[in-house]
Amino acid sequence: MKLKIDFHIHSQKSFDSTMSVQQIIETARQKGLDGVCICDHACTDIKDILENDNDDFIIIPAVEFTTGTNHIISLFLEKEPQINLKENLCAELNEIVAETKRCNGICILAHPFQNLKKGIDSVLKQTESILPLIDGMEIYNSRAPYKYSCANIIAGAHAERLKVRTVTAGSDAHLTEEIGNAYCTVECESRSLNDIKKAVIDGKVEIHGHHCNRTSIVKSNLIKARKTNSTVIYKLKSYIKYPIFSVKDITDKIFGRKY
Ligand SMILES: [Zn+2]
Ligand SMILES: [Zn+2]
Repeated sequence: MKLKIDFHIHSQKSFDSTMSVQQIIETARQKGLDGVCICDHACTDIKDILENDNDDFIIIPAVEFTTGTNHIISLFLEKEPQINLKENLCAELNEIVAETKRCNGICILAHPFQNLKKGIDSVLKQTESILPLIDGMEIYNSRAPYKYSCANIIAGAHAERLKVRTVTAGSDAHLTEEIGNAYCTVECESRSLNDIKKAVIDGKVEIHGHHCNRTSIVKSNLIKARKTNSTVIYKLKSYIKYPIFSVKDITDKIFGRKY
């Protein structure tokens, strides 16, 4: 059977989202998805997802960790990972990998090319060095083109060149309007998490997606500002960006620009 799954969604447990799990399920269903992967930022408190027994909608238990350099999604977790988070919520890559294995999950490198401040060669070298430690790479992230327009194109090309074991796609939704912006069609034996994990590891996935509206990013920035008591300057910047991004969204639609 083929299942449509958005592999990268944030709920209200993330500092920049207010979506409840119920809202995520309802919206995803309306958009024709069979399941989602909920991966909140550095949030290992996933008991509610692990105990979820909703038979007709798939929720993959996951966490999105940051090492400071990379974002790693640990998914298909069967128990809560025990990770020593530093003050800035970063964690060591080796610890993320080991704990994910202990929890029978897999590790995916998320949006590897969205930040090229250090230059493409340096990011590529760094990506190549960690790929042997993990299971796959997210090659379509709907928010990544906002930071670097070719991020997904480069990720797809390098995953192929580096013969990455498996690839995923996800919206990185922080708002309901973003759910399903990207997803994978997974060819698997059944709807069980084990069979879906097996299919993902075997690379039986097709990638689908389009970039998010720029205004969605500003809206989640404002949620972050509210939830983390950000500075007035940060809030002001977001308010100023909103009309500019609205115009850019309209011109993207007129010219059919897709990343
Ligand atoms: Zn991320
Ligand atoms: Zn994310």
